Amino acid sequence: CGIVGVLGKHEVAPILVEALKRLEYRGYDSAGIATVNEGVLDRRRAVGKLVNLSDLLVHDPLPGKSGIGHTRWATHGVPSVENAHPHRAGSVAVVHNGIVENYRELRAELASHGFRFETETDTETVALMTEHHMKSGLDPVQAAFKTIDQLEGAFALAFLFDGEEDLIVAARKGSPLAIGHGDGEMYVGSDAIALAPLTDRVTYLEEGDRAIVTRNSLEIRDERGELANRDMRRINLDV
Ligand code: GLU
Repeated sequence: CGIVGVLGKHEVAPILVEALKRLEYRGYDSAGIATVNEGVLDRRRAVGKLVNLSDLLVHDPLPGKSGIGHTRWATHGVPSVENAHPHRAGSVAVVHNGIVENYRELRAELASHGFRFETETDTETVALMTEHHMKSGLDPVQAAFKTIDQLEGAFALAFLFDGEEDLIVAARKGSPLAIGHGDGEMYVGSDAIALAPLTDRVTYLEEGDRAIVTRNSLEIRDERGELANRDMRRINLDV
């Protein structure tokens, strides 16, 4: 029920967990993070309180300066490690808030291409479809955008890619999402509260927006793919 993302200068796992803690008020049943470290995408997930994820990370650290994180409130599939986000398919990891209404159709299409499913979630179809488009020759941004175009329902999404240390793709339709601006760092969060310790400079995505986020740039496109200008605001939140 919460999304965070960080393209940072420092080890990102503790920053992601800290930001997720600030979203705990929304409620959740499991949590997870994914990072890219020296080009390699990996993830850790745990059921229950965030402290379970922190404990797991002590025993099984996840290095990397780029990452995404999620607290889940299950809608499709029981709370379990397998169903926890980030969902991964090949070189793509995805975190998602909301519901993909047409996930059955997407599953059928993916099955026809020979894909297999590891989870009961609607979200796994987003990761698999993006991987499918990348295998068909699209680059990560094109593949994520094409997948987003296929989704019905209400969602906020963040994508992280194997081999891409400086890229998060984010999208908003029905669930809020904010992009935070740092100095040579960039952040993604379900709300500005999650990002408050990191920055007070925030750009809110509008309905249908997709963002291409790197450490030094933010490109936002609207539902039709046109470049969109969204204001950066200074927010004033007690940290
Ligand atoms: N529908 C997704 C799931 O059940 C996302 C739930 C959420 O918003 O946390 O995994």
